Amino acid sequence: MSSQFFMPTKIILGSNCVLTSCPLLSALGKRALIVTGARSSRANGSLADILTALATNGQSYVIYDKVMSNPTVSCVYNGAAFARENGADFIIAIGGGSPMDAAKSIALLAKQDITKEDLFSGNFSGGALPMAFVPTTSGTGSEVTHYSILTNDDIESKSSIAAPALFPDLAFLDAKYTLGLPRAATVNTAVDALSHAVEGMLSKHANVVTDCLARRSIGMIYACMDGLKNNTLTPGQRETLLHASTLAGMVITNTGTTVVHAMGYSLTYFKNVDHGRANGLLLGAFLAFSESRIPERVRDILSAAGLSSVGEFKRDLSGLLEAAEPLTQAELEKYAALALKTKNIANCPVRVTAENIIGFYCESLS
Ligand code: NAP
Ligand code: ZN
Repeated sequence: MSSQFFMPTKIILGSNCVLTSCPLLSALGKRALIVTGARSSRANGSLADILTALATNGQSYVIYDKVMSNPTVSCVYNGAAFARENGADFIIAIGGGSPMDAAKSIALLAKQDITKEDLFSGNFSGGALPMAFVPTTSGTGSEVTHYSILTNDDIESKSSIAAPALFPDLAFLDAKYTLGLPRAATVNTAVDALSHAVEGMLSKHANVVTDCLARRSIGMIYACMDGLKNNTLTPGQRETLLHASTLAGMVITNTGTTVVHAMGYSLTYFKNVDHGRANGLLLGAFLAFSESRIPERVRDILSAAGLSSVGEFKRDLSGLLEAAEPLTQAELEKYAALALKTKNIANCPVRVTAENIIGFYCESLS
């Protein structure tokens, strides 16, 4: 089987990089639609830096700040209509995975007419508006992926749109925007990035390039483990987590995620469990299962983390994350059936059954 590595986004890193590299935005267009959440980009300085950069370049803008966590299909159609009404010719996303993912679909829908029925097909020939992304959480890696993950009420889950047109053109990584991220959001997003790197190594699409990035990402996150546990992260560690998250995003854009994300979607959709926490609660069970099938892969993952057993890995995650309630039998069966319908399942290197999935949920939730 052949595999590939592709990631076309230009990444600009470092303190104040939005301001120092603002000429790069000039090439994207004349009038920006800024896609963001309700509050945080105003509080952490990211929106102010982008507005300064646009003013320096003589570019105009409008703001769409109605993106909620786990954005909905309606949210992105409304955002695209707003972009068209206001004549935006490029998109700037500021925030966590939710505004970044919403921005990708908005960039697509502002450029071409796609019905709700066709949105998740990924077969689009008309491209998307140019995009620049400023992540303010350190977890999703959405700034370097071609996925836009939306809440899809039609199937009572989350669904991803995957298309080459969804890669952002630019990603500005400045960890100063993450300094005030509350502890729970910091931990949940770091665990999401860890899950991306680990699942990437467990994917059947893993290759030498994705493994290099994933191992480094796991090592970087583990170097911050005490700071995460004790809530004592230094600014340098915040930067390490942001970079680790981007590396893990580069992994999953090539490997996809696995049954862990597939199972996590139901915990988020039905139980309102944060995306990263949902993955983190389930990851240890899948790693233990994988150990019995592909032990050398699991040894490689543990070695990147500096650990000698899956038990230590599980202990670290349960020390970080708040536990979640067990599921009823009816919920277990429903969520297992939904997980098996996701695209993520096809990335697992070994066959996973409904019984396996029910077992992972039971082992993970108490
Ligand atoms: P999020 O939903 O984007 O944000 C969670 C909360 O954090 C929001 O209340 C937000 O506030 C706040 N926040 C963001 N940055 C902050 C900062 N610097 N300081 C203080 N608060 C801040 O969370 P996320 O975990 O980053 O993203 C999760 C989403 O990403 C899910 O929908 C998931 O499916 C998706 N995802 C996508 C990919 C991909 O490859 N595309 C990969 C993994 C996950 P505001 O609303 O005020 O901004
Ligand atoms: Zn994720």
